[in-house]
Amino acid sequence: MSAQREERRQHHVVVLGAGYAGLAAAVQLSARTRKRADVAVTVVNGQERFTERMRLHAAASGQRLAELSVPELLDGTGARFVRGWVTAVDADARTVRVDDERVLRYDTLVYALGGVADTAAVPGAREHGHTLDGAQDAEVLAERLARLGGAGTVVVGGSGLTGVEAAAEIAERHPGLDVVLLGRTEPGATMNPRARAHVRAALDRLGVRVRAGVEVAKVLPGSVELVGGESVPADAVLWTSGTRVSPLAAAAGLTVDERGRVVVDAALRSVSHPEVYAVGDAAAITQGYGVMHGTCQGGMPTGVHAALTILRVLAGRRPRPFRFGYYHTPVSLGRGDAVVQFTRPDDSPRRVCLTGRAAVWYKETVTAAPWPTYGRMRKLPASGAFWPRGGRFTRVRKAR
Ligand SMILES: Cc1cc2nc3c(=O)[nH]c(=O)nc-3n(C[C@H](O)[C@H](O)[C@H](O)COP(=O)(O)OP(=O)(O)OC[C@H]3O[C@@H](n4cnc5c(N)ncnc54)[C@H](O)[C@@H]3O)c2cc1C
Repeated sequence: MSAQREERRQHHVVVLGAGYAGLAAAVQLSARTRKRADVAVTVVNGQERFTERMRLHAAASGQRLAELSVPELLDGTGARFVRGWVTAVDADARTVRVDDERVLRYDTLVYALGGVADTAAVPGAREHGHTLDGAQDAEVLAERLARLGGAGTVVVGGSGLTGVEAAAEIAERHPGLDVVLLGRTEPGATMNPRARAHVRAALDRLGVRVRAGVEVAKVLPGSVELVGGESVPADAVLWTSGTRVSPLAAAAGLTVDERGRVVVDAALRSVSHPEVYAVGDAAAITQGYGVMHGTCQGGMPTGVHAALTILRVLAGRRPRPFRFGYYHTPVSLGRGDAVVQFTRPDDSPRRVCLTGRAAVWYKETVTAAPWPTYGRMRKLPASGAFWPRGGRFTRVRKAR
């Protein structure tokens, strides 16, 4: 058979995005289809380097990230890697356009483009603020902080966990800088009182000035204006608040929620286009306790589940519902301190938490885990298929 005819007979799975969730899907799928000629897997990502988003706050304060190569990871699995930025998805023609004008055809699409900080929420945040959306953004901020020469004010907008981690890291690494953390809620608001108190004490020890209960109205060159008119001087602003996803899914006509995330059924297939699976931060995934929020702990299982479901469907079997329950919230507080809040499957805090050295070790173990996990999955795909299913918290929906 000619190569062209064989290619036409193959089932083409295209994975968009090689972050935590997309790579989990790609490795799981390619490891299980390595010896099959009837399935072809292509992975498209903006960069060859795997972005360890969970370390970007450390990178922003000047620490170096490891060079982790996605093509090297996929080498030998049979998956093809395409470096490029996706510019459009045509859900009717089942094609994907990449920025160099290449067009890739798919039979099944795994949409895993992640999310970024919502700089559109506040005027000026995009123009005058930094973000931790990618390694390059973190490096640009690191250079800016270094140029301040140990004097000046850094405002971190958003008191969620990314804001807390970034403020602590910057304050520890640049003790001469005045770090101000602005947000609607107390840092660690979702944690139990002990963990929350630990977060606050660590920020105080590092000299971070916390302003909770405030709303940012605008980011200007050299300052941040709060609702009510107060102006907070800023030599650099880091914006961490909210999440925005790529507009590509909505533009393609996929059903999306109010935040632009692809709405999926219980098996992680788009409700409007069942040949499209959406995983990670780019997907609106409903569990018994509500819609999942973006984390790596939940994102990787979504990728694995999508891969397993694609193979079940190709084998003519019924898909199984995705079930996931949260189990922890590990938060770094600089390099020498951390807190780990253990949670119920619905992400509500348990009474147990770790602090100090034990928490630092735990957090680093969790942060370092994804890359070796992909390596193990390449050889033993089943090793990636274990995660907490959430028990009674997720025993609500059935696969459609
Ligand atoms: C500073 C920070 C700390 C965090 N800490 C934690 C933590 O401790 N624990 C935790 O669970 N979660 C943490 N998170 C959240 C976690 O990083 C995300 O939930 C996770 O990255 C989501 O995985 P994903 O695969 O959906 O998206 P991503 O990991 O963001 O991957 C998306 C990929 O798609 C690529 N991409 C996007 N658009 C395009 C395009 N148009 N064309 C081609 N490629 C594209 C991106 O370059 C990227 O490689 C943290 C996030 C940040 C920013």
